[in-house]
Amino acid sequence: FNRIHQVLDRNVVQRGDQPAVIDCDGGQVSWAEYGALSEAYEALFRLNGVRPGDRILIVAENCLAVAVALFAASRIGAWAVPVNARMAEHELERIVKHADPALVILTSHVSKEALAHAERLEAKPVQTGAGRVHLVQRSGTGPEVMAEGADGVAVLLYTTGTTGDPKGVMLSHANLLFAAKASAELRNLAPADRVYGALPLTHVFGLASMLMASAHAGATVQLASRFSPAALYQALREGVTVLPAVPQMHAVLMAYAAENGHEKLDSDVLRYVSSGAAPLDPAWKRKAESFYGIALQNGYGMTESTAGVTGTRNPKGLADISVGPVLPGVEIMLDESIGGEAGVGEVLTRGPHVMLGYFRNPAETAKAVSVDGWLRTGDLGKIDENQYLHIVGRCKELIIRGGFNVYPPEVEAALNDHPAVVQSAVIGRSGEGGNEDVVAFVQVTKPDAVQASELKDFVASRLSGYKRPSRILVVDALPASATGKILKHRLLSHFAEALN
Ligand code: ATP
Ligand code: MG
Repeated sequence: FNRIHQVLDRNVVQRGDQPAVIDCDGGQVSWAEYGALSEAYEALFRLNGVRPGDRILIVAENCLAVAVALFAASRIGAWAVPVNARMAEHELERIVKHADPALVILTSHVSKEALAHAERLEAKPVQTGAGRVHLVQRSGTGPEVMAEGADGVAVLLYTTGTTGDPKGVMLSHANLLFAAKASAELRNLAPADRVYGALPLTHVFGLASMLMASAHAGATVQLASRFSPAALYQALREGVTVLPAVPQMHAVLMAYAAENGHEKLDSDVLRYVSSGAAPLDPAWKRKAESFYGIALQNGYGMTESTAGVTGTRNPKGLADISVGPVLPGVEIMLDESIGGEAGVGEVLTRGPHVMLGYFRNPAETAKAVSVDGWLRTGDLGKIDENQYLHIVGRCKELIIRGGFNVYPPEVEAALNDHPAVVQSAVIGRSGEGGNEDVVAFVQVTKPDAVQASELKDFVASRLSGYKRPSRILVVDALPASATGKILKHRLLSHFAEALN
């Protein structure tokens, strides 16, 4: 295969009448119907002037139309650019300007935010076999894109923006085909599986490790337009076999179940649960394994690496908090000139999963990917005696205090161990003489569940002196992305008043 829609077409031939997608309204679609819908969307896109190399901006929350549009773009040789409908107007404007799409499609039938964007853009409603969507035709620039030599691009995906502004990552058909296979094999996905699809299709984990991996295996995907613990709980009781999620989803689900008197999930068919996209807290891992009754696997990757770099294959109860060994075909190494301590370095990775580059940003691309193909992940890691990778933090977030290194995830884990803590975020704040202060933002279960002073005492017994936060701020909520990742670069400005 050299294009991603061929994966869909193979399922049409091999298992035409079997279930491919359960849409967010519960409607079931077979592989044959899925294939036909993607051809109908191809025709619709061509009718609206889309040519090879054009970008199709998909302003979305999860639904069948997003998946169908992705494969339709591939049929044309156009780039799919899925972005989350819940982004603010100015964020969307920035992406429209950067991606310069020939067509914008908005999933207005499942998302009031998409509908609001559609109305502002004066988009026209179109009834399709995958629901009513809105379209805006634009002039867009096509040929100039080809000049970048990236005619193999399948999707342009924007990064989460945890450390700054989101960057546009060009992923090729080959990247996605590789990632789909690697991820399907890691999880032993099969046609009989039902994979829960709450991870946004606008993010690499949802797109590559969930949607494309399921298509690779012929498994059914049950889409959720946005994450709801009640809906997930019900789906888990009704036949979901595989649950890929981000750590925060597991935490919210368990809190919901506990509130409703369920300490443990009762499912005979759930066989694989995973966490990825953000650090997995050891305490959450223990709790989740007791709740699900099976192991919780941890996968590591990023947009620039088409998700999968490593993944665990652990039995239940193993106290392993690594992100596991590399996926077959993937290489990693550490650059120990960055990272402070012996054995810790920036993780570099090479292989068929590495992006083509950042769109319209050759300078950043050259910084991220070396001439011999090594991608700088921006993450600090160490490799243990089993060749398992451990992520200890991000290079940019490493705190240097009095000459010592403080890795925020370690401090966060100590805070999260407290029963009244939902989640926490630790950052450095520069003080006098280039020294950094450790500042913690802690989200608690309910107002006044715990005071900062008590948390200070709590972590004192768990952390050496230089790692202890000098300031702990107890808050109701932390600024987060659509996948639930805490946006650390916004913390200081967001809580500026409370910090003074
Ligand atoms: P930006 O690059 O815009 O700052 P981002 O890096 O958060 O945002 P993504 O590509 O969505 O954007 O996320 C990838 C990052 O998420 C990785 O570089 C790593 O820091 C973190 N990450 C992913 N999986 C794991 C994991 N299993 N454990 C720890 N961290 C993880
Ligand atoms: Mg990143």
